[in-house]
Amino acid sequence: MVWIMPDKSVSNRESNGLQPLQWAALASLPGLIHGVFTRRGGVSRPPYDSLNTAFGNGDHPDAVARNLGRIASHTGLTTLAAVRQVHGDRVAVVDEAFLARCDRRDHQGFSLFVGPEADALATALPRVGLLVRIADCQAVFLADPEKRVIANVHSGWRGSAADILGKTVALLTERFGCRPESLVAAVSPSLGPCCAEFRHFEKELPPSFWKFQVRPTYFDFWAISRSQLTAAGLRPENIHLAGQCTVCHPDLYFSYRRDRVTGRLAAVIALS
Ligand SMILES: [Zn+2]
Repeated sequence: MVWIMPDKSVSNRESNGLQPLQWAALASLPGLIHGVFTRRGGVSRPPYDSLNTAFGNGDHPDAVARNLGRIASHTGLTTLAAVRQVHGDRVAVVDEAFLARCDRRDHQGFSLFVGPEADALATALPRVGLLVRIADCQAVFLADPEKRVIANVHSGWRGSAADILGKTVALLTERFGCRPESLVAAVSPSLGPCCAEFRHFEKELPPSFWKFQVRPTYFDFWAISRSQLTAAGLRPENIHLAGQCTVCHPDLYFSYRRDRVTGRLAAVIALS
């Protein structure tokens, strides 16, 4: 199955049962590996069926390891780096010293390095897959083709409220010398404006978000991310949205809002 999105900016090509969603704007950059994997092609049983990539939410750890192994094999990566996602705004710089401090788990065909609590990873290291797990939250890829630096950001509504996207772009600028106008960004399938109801938004969301209300109590977090990325200096034409709601597509995506007990999708980006 080859699935081209209406704006032709993103495609979803099945391979060995896996269906990584890819953006043409990132696929056209040399030396970059990326994909947001759908729930298809894994070995986990319901309610984690089938490509659940998170340990510790009730799924069998052997199944999770096999699922991550399929992603590692598909991407050709043997090193995956992740953090303990806590809906905060810390950005982990993945360098040799970071990897040395990580909790390392060796599985068949790949090693998983898990760092401390953070919600974004940035690196200039080649062959290290930055792994973010989501079920309604956004995974946002950032790539600087000039400096050869990448980031992967976990941004749910709390991350949005904390502007983790802006903070990640600031770190890329300060730490790696990236120019925001060179960055290419892609926002994964995630909670869409159709389903993002916040009945207590006046308490939960900053007033600056209220103008993104699409109908009473429903918010467009895709537009919020686009706004935060442009505020951080990205060019609008370099920001790409999957435009797919995880809640609305149970056949393709895990959704915490929809199912509560469920798996986590993997978003992976690496420099080759
Ligand atoms: Zn929806």
